[in-house]
Amino acid sequence: MGRAFEQMRVSLKARLDELNRLLVVSQGVASSLEFSEAIQPVLESALGSGASSARVVLVPGMVPDLEWAASTPARFGAGAAQNLYQNLDEQILNLSRQQDRLVLSNTNRPRLLNFIPGAPRPESLMAVALKHENQYYGALWVAYDQPHAFSEEEVRFLVTLGGQAALAAANARLFLNAEIGRKRLESILASTPDPVLVTDENERLLLANPAAWQVLGLGAETYEGQPLDQIISVRSLVELLRSENGDGAREKQMVEVVLPGGRVFLASATPVLAEGQRVGRVCVLRDVTHFKEIDALKSEFVSTVSHDLRSPLTLMRGYASMLEMVGQLNDQQISYVRKIVSGVESMSRLVNNLLDLGRIEAGVGLQLEMVPVVDVVERVVSALQLQASQKRIQLTSELPAHTVPLVEADQALLQQALHNLVENAIKYTKPDGKVLVRVQVQPVGVVFQVIDNGSGISPMDMPRLFEKFYRGAQQGPKEERGTGLGLAIVKSIAERHGGRAWAESQLGKGSTFYLALPLKQPKKSVEGVAQ
Ligand code: ADP
Repeated sequence: MGRAFEQMRVSLKARLDELNRLLVVSQGVASSLEFSEAIQPVLESALGSGASSARVVLVPGMVPDLEWAASTPARFGAGAAQNLYQNLDEQILNLSRQQDRLVLSNTNRPRLLNFIPGAPRPESLMAVALKHENQYYGALWVAYDQPHAFSEEEVRFLVTLGGQAALAAANARLFLNAEIGRKRLESILASTPDPVLVTDENERLLLANPAAWQVLGLGAETYEGQPLDQIISVRSLVELLRSENGDGAREKQMVEVVLPGGRVFLASATPVLAEGQRVGRVCVLRDVTHFKEIDALKSEFVSTVSHDLRSPLTLMRGYASMLEMVGQLNDQQISYVRKIVSGVESMSRLVNNLLDLGRIEAGVGLQLEMVPVVDVVERVVSALQLQASQKRIQLTSELPAHTVPLVEADQALLQQALHNLVENAIKYTKPDGKVLVRVQVQPVGVVFQVIDNGSGISPMDMPRLFEKFYRGAQQGPKEERGTGLGLAIVKSIAERHGGRAWAESQLGKGSTFYLALPLKQPKKSVEGVAQ
């Protein structure tokens, strides 16, 4: 009985010791992401039962680190003979890849290992493969100078240590990979010529790349963690980085900002989402000064040329129409003259459109007055009624039952915008179709809708409709004439009034064009005109 108790005490003590050692090992693994540090307690514990060497050898490149060349295995050792047997590392690494554990009580039999003649050799050894989530990281192996019979407990203990070593390798690999990713991003950000700003959810600056410091005129001090409005003086940029309004909070938003020094940047801000939550914004600025300059030059060139074309065109049209008056022309001559007149007319249309666009874009004289919406609609509808009836198109208008408020706008321009929309609707609707002009009153503005049941617009054309000179693919059998400027003019007029123009369409079913204008013009734009 006494002996039995004594045996129980000894084995309990051994078990407790083992647990203690495991505790130290797992604390080591958990407390360090540096593999060489985390593995040290594992190696010390592996020496526990009298081994003279404990070693860990890793598959080359498995735990990336600058210190280890990617082509040679990383090795770590403990114990008096740790370096004595290191020539066996590669062989053990290869064997462990195929078998999870290798227990050799006597290294002479079976002949699994090739020993270099004359080199020191262990009498017994045991190796366990380091595996974590099916990934092979390398091997942990212990060697004895004497033959050693491995007990079941010893084998189990070394396998557990192997599990801890594999965990340490997996952690280090994960951490180093994340660290490499972070470093890569950091150098991309540092080398990108576009300024990049990142904010957190509390509207503080989290990160700014060197290009951003430069354009914002920030010095070398650290601005990270400071509130945006204390660092950035450009109001529109601060507002963009902050904006949270409704749907916009989840979408990319863009504004043009003029930074100190006069350069123009297109700033786009995208929210950063983590598990559906907004955790800040990323803003990239693109220098568009050069494009702006080219655009201004182009507009100037176009308006000069179109202005100078006007007089010769009037002259040509006049003389061509007079030909019939000054003498008898034969049928062929009459048909040629008509062709000339029609050609000159379409050129004049283009020139007039270009001049209009130039004037609207240049912002010359918005003649603001309180315009009765009903009048605008009636004038446009009656001006185009003839054109519609020639195609047997039913052109109607629908106004709200209650009184329609006055809208502050330039009447001539507003009329022109609506005219362009209705003219297009007639142009792109087949004979016997319908065009309806509808007005919707909202608390802050009016929306004109021009609805047709015509050819519709293909989704490919939709995004570019309002661009200058863009013409959609013609759907009908007859090609309609046009300059591709009508909708560009509508858009410019809308924007000059602080409004918006857009379209919805279904190919083959029809289109609806919208023109939304605010009831009142903000003070700013009136001042803008005065300047
Ligand atoms: P244009 O009519 O001179 O080609 P616009 O700028 O007025 O130029 O219109 C651009 C393009 O938009 C047109 O070429 C046409 O393809 C398309 N479009 C405009 N309005 C309509 C409409 N109501 N229905 C179908 N397509 C339209």
